[in-house]
Amino acid sequence: MRMVLAIILCKILRFVGKLVGKGSSLPGQFALKLCPDVLRRVKLPSYVIAVTGSNGKTSTVEMIASVLRAAGKDVVYNAEGSNQIEGVTTLILTHCTLGGKMKGDVLLLESDERYARYSFKWFHPTHFVITNLYRDQLTRNGHPEWVYDAILPAIHDDTTLVLNADDPLVSCFAQGHDKVKWFGLEAWEGATKEHHGVYHDGARCPVCKGKMEYTLYHYNQVGHYRCTACGHHRHEPDFAATSLDLKEGKLVLDGDTEIALSFRSIYNVYNILAAWSLCRLCGVDKQTIAKVLGSYILKNGRMVTFTLGGHHGTLLTSKHENSVAYDTNLRYIKDTGKDCSVLVIVDAISRKYFTGETSWLWDIDFDQLAAPHVKRVVLCGKYVNDLALRFDCSAVPQDKITCLDTVAQAAELLEQDGEEDLYVVTCFSDRDKLLGRVQRTE
Ligand SMILES: [Zn+2]
Repeated sequence: MRMVLAIILCKILRFVGKLVGKGSSLPGQFALKLCPDVLRRVKLPSYVIAVTGSNGKTSTVEMIASVLRAAGKDVVYNAEGSNQIEGVTTLILTHCTLGGKMKGDVLLLESDERYARYSFKWFHPTHFVITNLYRDQLTRNGHPEWVYDAILPAIHDDTTLVLNADDPLVSCFAQGHDKVKWFGLEAWEGATKEHHGVYHDGARCPVCKGKMEYTLYHYNQVGHYRCTACGHHRHEPDFAATSLDLKEGKLVLDGDTEIALSFRSIYNVYNILAAWSLCRLCGVDKQTIAKVLGSYILKNGRMVTFTLGGHHGTLLTSKHENSVAYDTNLRYIKDTGKDCSVLVIVDAISRKYFTGETSWLWDIDFDQLAAPHVKRVVLCGKYVNDLALRFDCSAVPQDKITCLDTVAQAAELLEQDGEEDLYVVTCFSDRDKLLGRVQRTE
């Protein structure tokens, strides 16, 4: 009876909430008060898929949803990104019959690394995709190994783990777990023998702290590794990107399926690979997956193009407090090889909470902007002094750097002179301060 009441209450609150434009966590919160174990009582679809990791969750979930829908499945997923237990409860209960049976063939969840254990206490995903773990939002998450410990209680024996074989920390989730499927990227032109980046979180083995050896690096600590002490190593992937040409935008999966990349970033390759692996495990045929992923344009709009004065601009949305997101975008700029200016904005560090903590700037490999085709670097925002200090200790020549206090001043300066390509590197909330001052193009 309690379950039925919780479902009714949740549906009513969600309906009213939508009318007044309220978020999706409150209905679930009340339903949980009325019936704390409601998530255990409801009957879920035969596929319950969860995706977590530091980067790429939203994109991967979007791709999986598109593919599964194209394959004719009815997919329910948390598109609004409310990925804590209250939001998950709202999503499930609003899709339930009064008898407690959830409608749809697939429940697909983007899951917050730190909160997965609370939701999955009551029900277990059939498939749990873990994309990567690296330094992200230090103030909130601490170190990746802390996040690893936070995810661990969310993993149950009956769940099939779908893991990134190339991430040494993620691969630890397989220890003592029977049902594991791996995905990974094989050698390609952009892989390096040497490690690149300011810090190396893969230098020591996450299992025994022994010295790690890599035969190749894809980026940061992601690559082909083996511990010289305990033997912790990259597993042979069940699903692999067997060939990759980022310049041509060509990716081959499992040796026979080619996908054209709309966004040529190594990140995107891993998101596609994760989505591919999961959809293959759900029995979708290769052609259907390739067709959807090949024409897939990310809805979350991390890459936006615009004009500002004589500049053709590209906004590469990064995440503050996440050096890997920055590094990947800086590498993209470095690889273009064409004359350009770069604008870096740090005005508000997070849109969710206040912090003035800027140590993460020191984790970013800004030396990549020392490339000769980068003609000018403009730094701006409330934290411009922190940026300036960081650049003081970089390889970027000082005479290339201009520092300004506000986004408006930077936009004004760039509008007035120059015609070279312009790349803007910043996070979602700071980018909006610039978008109001430029002409967007498609
Ligand atoms: Zn080891």
